[in-house]
Amino acid sequence: MPNRDEKILVIGACGQIGVELTLQLRKIYGEQAVIASDLREEHSLLKGTGPYVSLDIMNKETFHVLVLRYNITQVYLLAAILSATGEKNPTLAWHINMQSLLNVLDVAREENLKKIYWPSSIAVFGPTSPKENTPQHTTIEPTTIYGISKYAGERWCEYYFKRYGLDVRSLRYPGLISYKSQPGGGTTDYAVEIFHDALNKGHYTSFLQPDTYLPMMYMPDAIRATIELMEADADKISVRSSYNLAAVSFSPKEISAEIQKHLPDFSINYKIDSRQQIADSWPQSIDDSQAQNDWGWKPEYDLERMTKDMLENLKKELKS
Ligand code: NAD
Repeated sequence: MPNRDEKILVIGACGQIGVELTLQLRKIYGEQAVIASDLREEHSLLKGTGPYVSLDIMNKETFHVLVLRYNITQVYLLAAILSATGEKNPTLAWHINMQSLLNVLDVAREENLKKIYWPSSIAVFGPTSPKENTPQHTTIEPTTIYGISKYAGERWCEYYFKRYGLDVRSLRYPGLISYKSQPGGGTTDYAVEIFHDALNKGHYTSFLQPDTYLPMMYMPDAIRATIELMEADADKISVRSSYNLAAVSFSPKEISAEIQKHLPDFSINYKIDSRQQIADSWPQSIDDSQAQNDWGWKPEYDLERMTKDMLENLKKELKS
């Protein structure tokens, strides 16, 4: 059972993951126990569901004050610059992705916070990693600045755990697919855009090649994985860098065929851009047996179930 005395701060709460994670955490821990924060204005789905504060995590002092003022015990750090956006301004991506994490780890250590969550990504893997069933421990030589920052972040997390005993936990998310909040500039964004365009235009122009396979996951699985990891007993967590996590792998051609089962007139064409190069450097599928064995991870959504659920929910939104 989750401890009801927790006070949780979610940083980057208005992003693709943050909105749904905040809502789920509020269901479990209570509305007042989960403080949402972001640079942006409060997301419409969060309004009225619990406390919201404006926070730039690059400002360590403001963050420190907030931790003290709200008696924060756990932090979920979701603020980051994602893969495609990162390639446009590599030094900014490095600066934000690293400094935000170091600010959180440092204050967490100083104030003896109980638990920290920080997501990594399958982007830590590069062209020299095995492409299929990429193992937890293997060659890791990322070629995007996003991947480089995630890999460095993983090393920092493990360092803080080993050196200071800080309980930091992390998952290497695959591409995440959701209907509640928009994706924030990643290479796997196509797998969200395709559903919107299928319903709104009956057509999608893919920026990735038809046969580019990438590891993906439906948001309800990602939220459940995150909370299950955070609620697992500490002695079950053997990976203190970041866990491989998997659900499904598919290509633009495969997902469009699945959408056509529901919308027979849907069509797709291809206009490849620079994101292809990023996708080509990543794995096609991931071996997450360590997460399965350590804390019992098991995905619920395959391509068929996810497609059906996405279309049903987006249709409802279009009608309202
Ligand atoms: P997102 O871009 O949708 O959301 C990030 C949020 O952080 C935004 O609301 C943004 O306003 C906020 N933010 C940015 N800079 C900030 C700052 N300085 N201070 C406070 N808030 C700030 O990203 P997301 O998709 O929700 O991703 C969350 C985390 O998960 C990131 O670390 C990302 O790298 C990781 N991840 C995401 C995916 C995915 O497919 N979405 C896959 C792998 C890993």
